[in-house]
Amino acid sequence: MFKKILIANRGEIALRVQRACREMGIKAVMVYSEADREAKYVKLADEAVCIGPAPSGQSYLSMPAIISAAEVTDAEAIHPGYGFLSENADFAERVEKSGFVFIGPTPESIRIMGDKVSAKQAMIRAGVPCVPGSEGALPDDPVVIKRTAKAIGYPVIIKAAGGGGGRGMRVVHTEAALLHAVQTTKAEAGAAFGNPEVYMEKFLQNPRHIEIQVLADTHRNAVYLHERDCSMQRRHQKVIEEAPAPGIPRRLIEKIGERCAAACKKIGYRGAGTFEFLYENGEFYFIEMNTRVQVEHPVTEAITGIDIVRTQIAIAAGEKLPFTQRQVQLRGHAIECRINAEDPYKFTPSPGRVTTWHMPGGPGVRVDSHVYANYMVPPNYDSMIGKLIVHGDTREQAMARMRTALAETVVEGIKTNIPLHRELMVDANFETGGTNIHYLESWLAQRER
Ligand code: ADP
Repeated sequence: MFKKILIANRGEIALRVQRACREMGIKAVMVYSEADREAKYVKLADEAVCIGPAPSGQSYLSMPAIISAAEVTDAEAIHPGYGFLSENADFAERVEKSGFVFIGPTPESIRIMGDKVSAKQAMIRAGVPCVPGSEGALPDDPVVIKRTAKAIGYPVIIKAAGGGGGRGMRVVHTEAALLHAVQTTKAEAGAAFGNPEVYMEKFLQNPRHIEIQVLADTHRNAVYLHERDCSMQRRHQKVIEEAPAPGIPRRLIEKIGERCAAACKKIGYRGAGTFEFLYENGEFYFIEMNTRVQVEHPVTEAITGIDIVRTQIAIAAGEKLPFTQRQVQLRGHAIECRINAEDPYKFTPSPGRVTTWHMPGGPGVRVDSHVYANYMVPPNYDSMIGKLIVHGDTREQAMARMRTALAETVVEGIKTNIPLHRELMVDANFETGGTNIHYLESWLAQRER
């Protein structure tokens, strides 16, 4: 096992990885920007290295700064967390070329999955069901583009091969709007992602977002840790996640989960990963794969009892998965609310000093956050400042625990979206379960009136 790991991230996930290191007897090196200098998790680290000023381009995204921090501290491996450089194939490659272990998949896997066209082609070859669409990137020929859309059937969605974060997509309802939409998406994709390639898919009207967590080691073992339902989204950003997904028959999950695990073996995937699907009328349609640990991983940890971050580290150290698929047992239900420093009505970011930070507790309650009273939320980064996760024997119990936990929570000094979560936890449709990806947006539109 490693003796020392460098954590190339910040905030709650940096603390999460640091905790896993502690538990495993591994020393944790923290890198930090000037904006995070005073953070407690930085002070708690075995070693800490300042890698630059607040803007992430000059710190958390600076490959040379991070690699030289690993060199000066003699770290053996680098955990990228999520966001920042976690899905950057060039970074993974540079880490390995510099003689460190990258805690994640091979640069090649990251590269294939980072391009949605090549990811989809790999999935089709591996037998994972995808949204019906164009075979690869769209050509320039307007006749072919029109023919493709006609064959798929309107509405269609034009998506950038290099897109991410919900950007670079356009829905088209009629042939009249098609060519213009393709041109505009191409131009935007070229400017935003440095890759003008776009492809076409059938636009699904009312799907749910269901994703499958996988873990694969370097000894040809791959397992799926079942599913998460992340349909509660605002602007394609997840707000609440839960596991299992309400109302989906277990045999359907097992079927798709087996396909995902088999695909991992086929493509030589290693580490933790997530296959994201749209789910409609009993069918799963692959949309993309995330080649890293995800924000919502704790709900899966709760229902399986498997520590995903710890397993990532063990896999990177060359260990075999310590359990088989049959040993992955499900227990109860878990829900996660993302806590954002933002106005709960207008959603404008609300950085600043936290004066009161009172977090809930009790059976089945987990808080993953680096925040504390007197902590200064810097304005430079993502607004997510923590996660509240509950686990219960049933979904009803988990919901009740989440309501109690949210009622106990007090955050002052900054605005948070906790009031929004309190409202959603008593919403009749959410309570029933199985809402689709448009539900939260339409709920918010109604609330405004
Ligand atoms: P990103 O990498 O930007 O998150 P995804 O491919 O994961 O892009 O898609 C993000 C979201 O866009 C999905 O969760 C879904 O809400 C919507 N979306 C993507 N493809 C389709 C589709 N074919 N039909 C309907 N909605 C889609």
